[in-house]
Amino acid sequence: MDFSLPPRVADAVGKVRKLFETDVLPLEAELLRRKSFKAILPELAAARQKVKAAGLWAPHVPVEWGGMGLSLTEHARISEELGKSPLGHYLFGCQAPDAGNMELLLAHGSPEQKEKWLKPLAAGDIRSCFSMTEPDLPGSNPTWLGTTAARDGDHYVINGRKWFTTGAEGSAFAIVMAVTNPEAPPHLRASQIIVPTDTPGFRIVRNVSVMGEPGEDWASHAEVDYENCRVPVSNLLGPENAGFFLAQERLGPGRIHHAMRWIGIAERAFDMLCRRAAERPMSPGKRLADKQIVQGWVAESRAEIDAARLYVMHTAWRIEKEGQHEARDAVSAIKFFTADVLTKVLDRAVQAHGALGLTDDTILAWLWRHERGAHIYDGADEVHKVSLAKRILGRYGVKDAK
Ligand SMILES: Cc1cc2nc3c(=O)[nH]c(=O)nc-3n(C[C@H](O)[C@H](O)[C@H](O)COP(=O)(O)OP(=O)(O)OC[C@H]3O[C@@H](n4cnc5c(N)ncnc54)[C@H](O)[C@@H]3O)c2cc1C
Repeated sequence: MDFSLPPRVADAVGKVRKLFETDVLPLEAELLRRKSFKAILPELAAARQKVKAAGLWAPHVPVEWGGMGLSLTEHARISEELGKSPLGHYLFGCQAPDAGNMELLLAHGSPEQKEKWLKPLAAGDIRSCFSMTEPDLPGSNPTWLGTTAARDGDHYVINGRKWFTTGAEGSAFAIVMAVTNPEAPPHLRASQIIVPTDTPGFRIVRNVSVMGEPGEDWASHAEVDYENCRVPVSNLLGPENAGFFLAQERLGPGRIHHAMRWIGIAERAFDMLCRRAAERPMSPGKRLADKQIVQGWVAESRAEIDAARLYVMHTAWRIEKEGQHEARDAVSAIKFFTADVLTKVLDRAVQAHGALGLTDDTILAWLWRHERGAHIYDGADEVHKVSLAKRILGRYGVKDAK
C-alpha cells in the first residue's frame, strides 16, 4: 500500500498550511478572545472567500458541484490538516454535519432536491443539520425512535422531540429521521425527510449547554421540537423506510473524515506538548523535557498517533478498494481506537501545561471540552466495540451473543 500523496493533494496540503498561518490560526485566537462564534461570522465569511479563491473549497465534493473532487483517501489527508484548528473544516466547507448531508443528497437526492438544497449547501450559502437523536430514547439504538412522520395526502406530518441537532441554529434545513412505518421490523420503520427550518412547527427549544458552553450558530447543539411540521412527500430522501440504511451509509466516509480530524487535533496537541516540554523551565538547568515521565508521554503519543493514522488510512483505502461492507470491522474499530488516542494525547498536553492547560489562553481547554464527546457521538465507543466483537465471535460460532 502506498499512502504517499499524489502531487495535487501534496500541493493542497501545502496551501492549507499556509492559509492556517495567515488566516485560520488568527481567527481561532479571535474566537477564543471573543468567546462567540457569531461575533466572528463576518471574518469567517471573508476567510472562506480566500479558501475558494485558492481552489481549496469543499475538498470532498465533486468538481461539478463546486468542490475539489478528492477521493476518500485524498480528503482524509486534508481532513487531518484541517482538524488542527476547530475552525478548519468550517472554513474549507467540509464541516459536520453539512459534509455528511451533502453526501446523502449526492447519493440519494432527487434532481429537484439537489438543485434546491445541495447546490447552495455545497457553495456554503446555507447550512444544514441532522436530527436523529432524541432526549428520551437511546441514540445508541437508532432503530428505536419516538418521532413520527404520518402520511396525510401529499404531505408528511412530523411530530417529535430531538436533541443534539448540531448547528440547527442558523440552518436552512434539517434532515430528520422519523418513523414512517411503525408496524415494520425495526430496521425498516424510519425515513429521512428534509424539513426546511422555516416550516411552521419547527422550533428550537434551546441550544443545549455542553461543558459549560451553550454555543452559537454552527458551533451549537440544539434541542428541537417538531410539532405538526408539514412537508411535501417530495422532501423524502431516498426510499421510504430506508432511513436506517441511509444513516449507516452516511457513517462510513463520515467516520474517515472524523477520525482524520481527530488525528489532526492529536497532532496539534502533540506539537503543543513538545513545545511546552522544551520551553518550560522546572528548576535551574532543568526543563520539563528532562523529566522521563514527560519523555514517555512524547514517545507514546508519537507511536499512538502514527498507528491511528495508518489504521484510518488503511480503512479508507479498503473502503475504496473493497467497499464499506467488507471494511466494516475496521470502520467500527477506528472509531473507538482513534477517539482513545485523541483524548489520551490531548489530556497529556493539558497536563504538561499545568494550570495554563485549563485556561482559554491556549486552545487546549477548548479542544478538551469539545472533543470529550468523541467517545459518544458517531456511535458511542461501546456500541462499536460490541458490534465488532460480535462479528468476530460470530466467526467462531458464537451466534447468540447478547
Ligand atoms: C458533540 C455531539 C454532537 C452530536 N451531534 C448530533 C447530531 O448532529 N445529530 C444527532 O442526531 N445526534 C447528534 N449527537 C448525538 C449522538 O449521536 C448520541 O449522543 C449518541 O448516539 C449516543 O446516544 P445517547 O446520547 O442517547 O446515549 P445512550 O444511547 O443513552 O447511551 C449512553 C451510554 O451507554 C453506553 N452504551 C450504549 N450502548 C451500549 C452497548 N450496546 N453496550 C454497552 N454500553 C453501551 C455508552 O457508554 C453510551 O455513552 C451528538 C452528540 C454529541 C456529544
